[in-house]
Amino acid sequence: MTKLLFLGSGSAFTVGADNYQSNMLLIDPAQHKLLIDCGSDIRFSLHEAGFSYRDITDIYISHLHADHVGGMEYIGLTTRFDPNCPKPNLYGSKDVLSEIWERSLSGGMRSLGNDIADLHTFFTVRKVDRHHHFSWHGLDFQLVRVIHIHNDYHLMPSYGIFFRVADLNVFITTDTQLRLEENQRYYDEADLIFHDCETAAAPSTVHVTYEELRALPAAIRRKMWLYGYQPGVLPDACAHGFCGFVKRGHCFEFADGQVTATMTHPRGDRPAKATSQLPRRSNDSSESLPSTALRSFEF
Ligand SMILES: [Zn+2]
Repeated sequence: MTKLLFLGSGSAFTVGADNYQSNMLLIDPAQHKLLIDCGSDIRFSLHEAGFSYRDITDIYISHLHADHVGGMEYIGLTTRFDPNCPKPNLYGSKDVLSEIWERSLSGGMRSLGNDIADLHTFFTVRKVDRHHHFSWHGLDFQLVRVIHIHNDYHLMPSYGIFFRVADLNVFITTDTQLRLEENQRYYDEADLIFHDCETAAAPSTVHVTYEELRALPAAIRRKMWLYGYQPGVLPDACAHGFCGFVKRGHCFEFADGQVTATMTHPRGDRPAKATSQLPRRSNDSSESLPSTALRSFEF
């Protein structure tokens, strides 16, 4: 079955809280792996989960904050100089991948002895046009533009992903403010939502806060797992109608319209215990949600 493993579930500056930045591995039944964001913690979080750069063949980058892109130098250089590693595929929106080299990676990666490298030296670049999707081993990933940071008129490019697996619609927001007017359809269509959630005492304003999410309708909260939070004591998300807070090592297994959450041990992939069985598919619910086909979405 396909599963989603959280290498970490914390915020950008998580330190010493038994957690890492919120990067994930989507692993299909053939053990292909898609790394969803590649932050500056990645060499530690991969190692902790029993993986290394050698496992990274496909990467999706949502936006250019370092907790999402800061580990790309590690992956790019280690795979480039390991003859056993194929060049990883790099997926992302056209605007994010058009900027990633000059704005994030070139300083540390452009000089390779006699060669002046570019992004294509390290990665097979697969830019996704606006309103389009990318395919990975039989799964289609729709990019969802999210509102993360505005600079006056300029919107920083940032994209969550929406995909269908095992008869379930899954929405991973990456980093966003709560903007239902932009993306209501994805909240409605999803059977399962992994949502970033700021729990800081002094919110940054560029992430949705726990209290904002708590004000959402119950039908949305009950299919929502929260991640990207700050170290410290967390609210009782289950008592407030959410599925819960994702922890480092949480693994979500998708099969036949159901998802099961298990906790993996560090340095291995051995399930420790089932922590929850999530609510059934939306079309089994008394509040049935529309089942619009993935490709029918419009922006
Ligand atoms: Zn961000």
